[in-house]
Amino acid sequence: MDIKSFVAKRKSELSVLAKSAPLTPTLMIIQANDDPASNSYVRGKIKDGEEIGFKVLLNKLPTTVLQDELLKEVEKANLNPDIHGLIVQLPLPKQIDEKVVKLAIAPAKDVDGFHPLSPFTPCTPKGIVSYLEGEGFLFKGKNAVVLGRSDIVGKPMAKLLLSKDCNVTVLHSKTSMEDKRAYIKMADLIVVAIGRLGYLDHSFEYKPSAAIVDVGINRGEDGKLHGDAVAGLPVALQTPVPGGVGLLTRLALMDNLMEAANNELRD
Ligand code: NAD
Repeated sequence: MDIKSFVAKRKSELSVLAKSAPLTPTLMIIQANDDPASNSYVRGKIKDGEEIGFKVLLNKLPTTVLQDELLKEVEKANLNPDIHGLIVQLPLPKQIDEKVVKLAIAPAKDVDGFHPLSPFTPCTPKGIVSYLEGEGFLFKGKNAVVLGRSDIVGKPMAKLLLSKDCNVTVLHSKTSMEDKRAYIKMADLIVVAIGRLGYLDHSFEYKPSAAIVDVGINRGEDGKLHGDAVAGLPVALQTPVPGGVGLLTRLALMDNLMEAANNELRD
């Protein structure tokens, strides 16, 4: 199933769950930037929530907001029982320490999964694994290569694939090209998240049965969005950009919000 159909199906399932839930799962987004890409991500999250029947509240702060003021808004949302999920949209202005803010969010509401004690799986890895599961990808004993080791994608992706019993190798900016070529040639699953347009190209050798999951979002000289892999590589499955992992990430956020609201009911 293509990613758009997969996401539409899962959203309608969430919509049924939302209708029968005794409370409306509610997400608060705190945004302290005026970044065009962030504005577009925030609009996407609001639209997803509305389509499903969740409530998404936006608390937009001036970019001049001080760290203490932002932390107060986080604390208010932490204590508000009507808010089940809380995210602080990145990037944050220079005067604010991202690490301090991430740690200030109550773990039970941290639907982005960034807090070390958050019970939620970070959205990009979660969305990718649920899609591959839907495609019937069998993880156990498979060679998985993750390109990139960031805290929000590469590392949690590797951890999740390890928990699915894959043999996981993480390649990064200090890995030699010779090693990259050797690991990629052996890989059954390649997740690329490095932010380099068209990095995975026809010069690498791939298993014809491999799956390539392209996380990268890069603006090309043509003004359009492109992934970290060139389109049409000779593999069994390759996710497109746009219309690929971005949609899965948004879906996983909604899944995490439903879970957060359910957890609230159980407590
Ligand atoms: P980042 O800049 O924090 O990390 C990039 C990682 O890539 C680093 O760990 C670095 O070691 C590695 N790297 C850089 N050059 C490399 C090379 N030549 N070979 C191997 N590794 C290399 O990036 P990030 O936040 O993880 O995001 C990566 C990409 O994914 C970006 O394009 C970002 O926009 C995109 N992204 C997409 C989604 C989505 O939902 N689709 C979500 C998050 C990030």
